[in-house]
Amino acid sequence: MADRIKHLPPYLFAAIDKMKQEAIRQGKDIINLGVGDPDLPTPAPIIHRLQKAAEDPRNHQYPSYEGMLPFRKAVSNWYKRRFNVTLDPESEVLTLIGSKEGIGHFPLAFINPGDVALMTSPGYPVYHAGTLFAGGKSYFIPLKAERGFLPDLASIPTEVAKAAKILFINSPNNPTAATADRGFFSAVVEFAKRYNIIVAHDAAYSEMFYDGKRPPSFLEVEGAKEVGVEFHSLSKTYNMTGWRIGFVVGNREVLAGLGKIKSNLDSGVFQAVQEAGIAALEMEDSVVETIRKIYQERRDTLIPGLQKLGFKVTPPPASFYVWIPTPAGIASADFTALLLSKTAIVTTPGKGFGDAGEGYIRMTLTVGTERLEEALDRMEKSGIRG
Ligand SMILES: *Cc1c(COP(=O)(O)O)cnc(C)c1O
Repeated sequence: MADRIKHLPPYLFAAIDKMKQEAIRQGKDIINLGVGDPDLPTPAPIIHRLQKAAEDPRNHQYPSYEGMLPFRKAVSNWYKRRFNVTLDPESEVLTLIGSKEGIGHFPLAFINPGDVALMTSPGYPVYHAGTLFAGGKSYFIPLKAERGFLPDLASIPTEVAKAAKILFINSPNNPTAATADRGFFSAVVEFAKRYNIIVAHDAAYSEMFYDGKRPPSFLEVEGAKEVGVEFHSLSKTYNMTGWRIGFVVGNREVLAGLGKIKSNLDSGVFQAVQEAGIAALEMEDSVVETIRKIYQERRDTLIPGLQKLGFKVTPPPASFYVWIPTPAGIASADFTALLLSKTAIVTTPGKGFGDAGEGYIRMTLTVGTERLEEALDRMEKSGIRG
């Protein structure tokens, strides 16, 4: 094995997965609050568009590397409608095989051996893995409760900022659900300009918001397109995790860099899936609003229940994650194991998202309200309290 594989962080989820399999073998009724994968089906108009497009022989050949123009136009129209941001579909939009693919390959375009990428801890593990695979070094900015889990850019040492090429940010955030405002994004633009850093904003959860409070796009703030790009996913918004389609928009030179890597490694997204993606982006907002309402109802079931059990949690403003402090003195992996053995509830230890995630576990809102009530009931009966 190459060093880059040996240097990957230990897969903390492997142990919990083993325990989960064991519990399933014992016939336990598992409640899975561990995965960030919607339980709801893909909306019907998207499926129908795929069925039709799959029958068209024109879609059976290699797609274009950068994505078919009609899909990129649909992205550009969606951006205008949703964020009032203008994008040139030809040069400022790139189709991805899911945003994970684009994020993972991104550092290969910009990181030389020894260069630094800035990212948060806890954070989506792909930022670090991609940096490692490019031979770069990751600098982790800790997310702290007292700062609302937004990264403190002023805490980054000057010499680290000077060595940095990329800053990964993610709002609404996985796993903390923290959501940045335009003021934070403006500070990011200023920071990126001062140190000549490329900003990669992961907006996978931009449409999973509650109480009608729409999170802004990074590209809404002045100067953002000069310094960065924004990654989007159709996975969470339209219940399409298995379809593998996403996109990245923003600075054209940066997109050209990523495009160079991609055209040498992959051959784009099946055109029928891109057609289905167009159907998704052109759908009326009421479809996504219905999905949001389902998650909001689940949130409003789980949070008060956890609070009653003594957990110090606040309702997430967006995303389908709940970031929960573990009971005093219990490590996240131990608490996850305890929950599984006593209540058959699967959760994710915060440490799996980075060292600064210790002291928390993550639950997801990807099961129905009855199952959430059942989970709360089991916790109460087992004497599990915050
Ligand atoms: C789910 C997720 C992604 C990846 O989504 P794709 O299915 O690859 O589009 C990217 N970033 C974050 C933070 C996620 O949680």
